[in-house]
Amino acid sequence: MSEGLREKGLRLLPPVDEVIRDIRVSKLLAEGHSRSVVLDSVRSILAEERQRILSGVAPESNINKKEEFFDFIVLKSLAAVRLSSRPNLRRVINATGVVIHTNLGRSVLSPRARQAVSEVISGYSNLELDLDTGQRGSRYAPVEPLLTRLTGAEAALVVNNNAAAVLLALSTLAKGREIIVSRGQLVEIGGSFRIPEVMEQSGARLVEVGTTNKTHPDDYRRAINENTALLLHVHTSNYRIIGFTSETTVAEMVAIGREYSLPVMSDLGSGFLVDLGSYGLPPEPTVQEVVEAGPDIVTFSGDKLLGGPQAGVIVGKRRFIDAMKKNPLTRALRIGKMTVAALEATLREYLDRERVLKEAPTLKMLTASQSELGRKVSELAGCLIKALGDKAEVKVENNMSAVGGGAMPAAALPTLVVAVRPRKISAGELQSILRQGEPAVMGRVQEDKLLLDVRTICDTEFHPLAEALVGALEQRKGVEEI
Ligand SMILES: *Cc1c(COP(=O)(O)O)cnc(C)c1O
Repeated sequence: MSEGLREKGLRLLPPVDEVIRDIRVSKLLAEGHSRSVVLDSVRSILAEERQRILSGVAPESNINKKEEFFDFIVLKSLAAVRLSSRPNLRRVINATGVVIHTNLGRSVLSPRARQAVSEVISGYSNLELDLDTGQRGSRYAPVEPLLTRLTGAEAALVVNNNAAAVLLALSTLAKGREIIVSRGQLVEIGGSFRIPEVMEQSGARLVEVGTTNKTHPDDYRRAINENTALLLHVHTSNYRIIGFTSETTVAEMVAIGREYSLPVMSDLGSGFLVDLGSYGLPPEPTVQEVVEAGPDIVTFSGDKLLGGPQAGVIVGKRRFIDAMKKNPLTRALRIGKMTVAALEATLREYLDRERVLKEAPTLKMLTASQSELGRKVSELAGCLIKALGDKAEVKVENNMSAVGGGAMPAAALPTLVVAVRPRKISAGELQSILRQGEPAVMGRVQEDKLLLDVRTICDTEFHPLAEALVGALEQRKGVEEI
């Protein structure tokens, strides 16, 4: 760019006030955008343009035409305001078919659970007040009786997540002493939850027994000494050892625990409260079955197969639960009222098996019938064919969904997907544009097609999804739409 052009460009840069006075920009203020956000955005766009002109980078707009350049600044400012006021945490359409997707927030709450959260956060609540006596109450009181009734355990406690539940249990029962675990169960769950490391944090010492593929009851017996505090069973949620294998069951460990007067704990990971075996899912022990086998402590997640909020549920014998309640760590790991509200509502639905299968989105998605998936896939495909025209090839295909959340790694659920093959860009590029759009969409890219698995897409998302695709194929990102 010549010196002359540079000077001309700088002269054309409008003052901040002039941009703010533009009807399109002042409308943002009327829409409720804060004045300081609008001002900051306009200033940063002007500074960016000034820098661009000074450094001689070719201008994106025709700086020879005053009006055109002004419009360009206004449009960029509008986009900047929308971008900066967009929430960082926002809705994503999960078209991956992975039902319990940790990166996408795991479980979707049921309508009643959403309602319960909304109710409790819109005013004050009896979170720690016993309304009958007027005395201080326990924040666990709303959920403890439901948990004991549903699982058959004597007592219950809930903390922030299952990793916290394991940490609290190990620290309370075995700090400074030894915990015996099978080598086949020293798992890493992902997101850096590794059993040996959690154990180290709890102040307990890990004693590994058996081998990767086989651990026998006598392996535990031989490792027991006067420092042993706990026998721990970990559900290998996210992988399977197959072939020449054998693990000591929770029931067998309970028998050994009785022989030596040692407590036994089972980290179950995913907490299944209903048996979904009849829906073609692989057999998984339910929490009730594990509790029935007699361990002193059982822990599981609130937002995996349970389908509730992020939480770590601890159920078991009263004296151990009471000891955990007294551990100062519990205060650091305690749940908030939104969690209590969502968990109570979720658990209440489990009191009626038929109802929970109909209402809890996680369970509904896992048990969706082929005819339900068929109805959804033809609706979505119809919607997309109409919206996309010849911009992409749209087809219905058979595929597989995954349970996710480190549960049932070997399970693949037959599903139906809409396969979108864009004509002008690659499926990978389409996915990348969709990820940054509004709403963001996450699908699976396979053989240059973007697969949209209807198992995890709800009906109300069909139209927003179609609009997002149209926008993406027109190479417009959501935020740049003005
Ligand atoms: C998922 C899982 C955890 C961690 O639970 P979070 O709720 O993610 O903290 C711990 N143990 C097992 C066996 C798990 O599957």
